[in-house]
Amino acid sequence: MNDAYDVLVIGGGIVGAGVARDAAMRGLRVKLVDRADFASGTSSRSSRLLHGGLRYLAQGRIGLVREASREKMTLAHIAPHLAAPMPFLFPTRRRTEWQRWKLSIGVRIYDLLCGTGNLGRCSTLSVSQMLAMLPGLTSDRLTGGVRYFDGFTNDARLVIDTLRSAVAHGASVASYSRLVEGCREPSHWRCVVVDERAGRAADVLAKNVVNAAGAWASRIPHSRVRLRLTKGVHLVMDRKRLPVPEAVVLAERRRILFVIPWGERVILGTTDTDFAGDLADPTADLSDVAYILDAVNQAFPDLHLGPGDVISTWAGVRPLIAPRHVRSGAPSDISRAHQIHMSRLGWFEVAGGKLTTYRLMAEQTVDRIGEYLKTNLPSSRTSTTPLLEAAPQWSGLLPPPFERDVVAAICAEEWPEHLDDLMCRRTSWHFYHGYDQQMARTAAAWMAGALGWSAERTREELSRYEATYAPTSPSAL
Ligand SMILES: Cc1cc2nc3c(=O)[nH]c(=O)nc-3n(C[C@H](O)[C@H](O)[C@H](O)COP(=O)(O)OP(=O)(O)OC[C@H]3O[C@@H](n4cnc5c(N)ncnc54)[C@H](O)[C@@H]3O)c2cc1C
Repeated sequence: MNDAYDVLVIGGGIVGAGVARDAAMRGLRVKLVDRADFASGTSSRSSRLLHGGLRYLAQGRIGLVREASREKMTLAHIAPHLAAPMPFLFPTRRRTEWQRWKLSIGVRIYDLLCGTGNLGRCSTLSVSQMLAMLPGLTSDRLTGGVRYFDGFTNDARLVIDTLRSAVAHGASVASYSRLVEGCREPSHWRCVVVDERAGRAADVLAKNVVNAAGAWASRIPHSRVRLRLTKGVHLVMDRKRLPVPEAVVLAERRRILFVIPWGERVILGTTDTDFAGDLADPTADLSDVAYILDAVNQAFPDLHLGPGDVISTWAGVRPLIAPRHVRSGAPSDISRAHQIHMSRLGWFEVAGGKLTTYRLMAEQTVDRIGEYLKTNLPSSRTSTTPLLEAAPQWSGLLPPPFERDVVAAICAEEWPEHLDDLMCRRTSWHFYHGYDQQMARTAAAWMAGALGWSAERTREELSRYEATYAPTSPSAL
């Protein structure tokens, strides 16, 4: 069948983007579709960390930590603009499970598991060293702590740059295009994809289909994926209110919370609670906000942080592989391992994992397709080929300057369809600055100029953005 793609990827989050890039780089004809904006699912709602997962090391999941640690180093190599080394201070306290002597050993193993060395070397800190690094930290039961390194990224930018790379290698990508059906024909799959903007359905023919729909994976036709969905929430605050010099790990309760410096802001998160709501719109409830603020206030009791300090929030749904007893165990105990399998001939599913391991998940998925096709596909080159051929316009970790020319470049090269695509996922302006009506109006006018929107369309875009992001409810602080 000549007009059939080799691979149709369902889902333009980080995993789908990675599969599209890997497959295109091996010479396959690839099409990727996403029901909404690229990265609008979990892949723009993470903690933005490239990490092996110190917590999983404590759970004895050494293979998982080694795999993710090596991927962390690979991403730092292929996408240095989206993988900044980030030191973490982890204060330890008496009568908790995180003992200083255990962690001192743990962070050394953590460094070793990176293979060729971590992004920075770990160290053990005394009580006075920890208090000198973190003035305002309560000294209650403090025994000192450790300092270790992970990477800081921008999840949505990682998706966009991965897609740009996929397209540069010949892939075709379409946002706001939802797969609704897939029928097997003798030599290929006939998939029905609805263009959400025009409301029109069209057939896409593909020899192989990859379900990379994240939290939606079990709702895709022919799916055998069983997921346990959990929600995680983040808050953004001005760094002057919580002036940490480096990232901080708070293990005040059973869960671990991070305080992550982000330019003039800090990101606080995250939670981990079972989720059964609307996958497209998980939000931070008042109780989530209170939980995070409470934990930070316990660690820094003089700061008295309150909901009024919160500039913005985001919430995401983790697509975790369901253990055999679906409801058993705390959400944070569920493995972040991934699974790849073929549910029907030529219909693949890739699920679970995390942002850090997406490249490996993609490589293994395309290897499986090659095995099924019984063709000698060239080996994956994604672990050594830089993500972008030329240096990017800006690092991507912090929002770009608020300028018309930037907006024009994004509109030309990065497929934003709506104002919130620009404000939230291409630039992070919304999360960094909070909801700002004047900023939204200016950005909408710039987008209108670049994309030829009418006055009516521009008004509609502002209303759409306001309806979702204006702080009328706790979910959009
Ligand atoms: C709170 C939180 C914090 C996290 N922090 C980290 C972290 O710091 N580091 C880390 O490594 N990992 C982290 N993770 C995990 C990581 O974010 C996810 O594993 C990863 O983003 C999942 O990517 P994905 O591509 O599988 O899913 P998604 O990004 O959700 O992509 C799936 C896509 O499929 C599309 N789709 C769904 N149905 C259809 C359809 N019918 N047709 C077409 N498209 C469809 C959706 O629109 C969506 O864009 C975190 C997760 C959460 C929730």
